[in-house]
Amino acid sequence: MDAPRDRWQGRPCWAEIDLDAIAHNVRVLAERAAPARLYAIIKANAYGHGALAVGAAALEAGAAGLGVVCVDEGAELRAAGLDAPVLLVGATQAAEAERIVELRLTPTVCGTQTALALSRFAAARGVTQRIHIELESGLNRHGLPADDLVAFAESVRALPGIEIEGVYTHFAAAEEGDRAFTDAQYRALLEVSARLPWIPVRHCAATASILGAPEMALDLVRAGLGMYGYYPAPGLRDTVPLRRALTLKARISRVGEVEAGGTVGYGRTWTAERRSTVALVMCGYADGLRRALSNRAQLLVRGRRAPIAGRIAMDMCMLDVTDVPGVAPDDEVVIMGEQGGESIDADELAEIAGTISWEMLAGISARVPRLYYRNGELAGVTTLNERVPEFVRAAAPAGR
Ligand SMILES: *Cc1c(COP(=O)(O)O)cnc(C)c1O
Repeated sequence: MDAPRDRWQGRPCWAEIDLDAIAHNVRVLAERAAPARLYAIIKANAYGHGALAVGAAALEAGAAGLGVVCVDEGAELRAAGLDAPVLLVGATQAAEAERIVELRLTPTVCGTQTALALSRFAAARGVTQRIHIELESGLNRHGLPADDLVAFAESVRALPGIEIEGVYTHFAAAEEGDRAFTDAQYRALLEVSARLPWIPVRHCAATASILGAPEMALDLVRAGLGMYGYYPAPGLRDTVPLRRALTLKARISRVGEVEAGGTVGYGRTWTAERRSTVALVMCGYADGLRRALSNRAQLLVRGRRAPIAGRIAMDMCMLDVTDVPGVAPDDEVVIMGEQGGESIDADELAEIAGTISWEMLAGISARVPRLYYRNGELAGVTTLNERVPEFVRAAAPAGR
């Protein structure tokens, strides 16, 4: 089928995102975690899917709030008119306090300076600033150990304009199935929250625990990867049916012949063993097709797998299509997704590249246009120059 190709871009590499799949995943994850509420984690541009479109779709499907890492990500949501609670799961600095109060974000606070600054700005505006605090229970990144956390919470409780809404922790090895370590982290959170019974919301579960240990859902779960249709570990596949939301595509811009002995690409790492047909695909590592996949991964064209030939360049790569008859310029290539019954996903590419699906997805860069589909129809497009999809813009309150 011919996409309306020139409407959104000049460069033939784009991602198609199925918002019905996002909505389906939100619903099944929320159901599994119920009665806990679900926050949709849309940091890193919603793992490459687009924060605004995914955030809006997740809220519509029943997510109670959104989660991002930094203030700028929260600001993007507010600027587009998304009004839901936004939890910042990263560490926040005192210097960010004024913006956090203005934007009505809910930061994770573990330092007195930040708490004091938030209190000052909130009190000056006559608003109550909600915060969450984080227990350090095994990751050793941010968060406070139990005794320090209790002391910190009690001191912050007395500040004007601040309300500690939540206490949480983050698991270090839930994906790896390290149940003993995860259990210990969970117990540590229960113990500390029992000492702080006045904090209403306790949370610890990301996708791996929503799927593998739903009894740890407590009051709120933070769903990232699963919402995009991926499983954090193969052993979790039989839990609930998730649907992949993203297909990454590109077009072939040229098809050429290489004589036996000829080489392809930078560094001449691929040599034709026979007279070969190679196709130039307009997707490179700056779009998110990691260079580590050079000469190792396959892509789909005409419903068949074809190997990447030579090094992936910044903006393009080459496919050996000698065994795929009829390949022609303008043909659609699927980098992640399905075509003609064949399928390649972020798990497969991550395995080859020595990384994880999270990184494959989050690496799809800002210059790749996103096409959003609902009920099989194009509902909105974002590009490097137009960051707000039509259906989000249309729903935003006037004046934003
Ligand atoms: C990214 C993140 C999540 C989401 O994790 P997934 O494994 O993608 O579901 C949850 N909580 C915190 C604190 C995070 O940083």
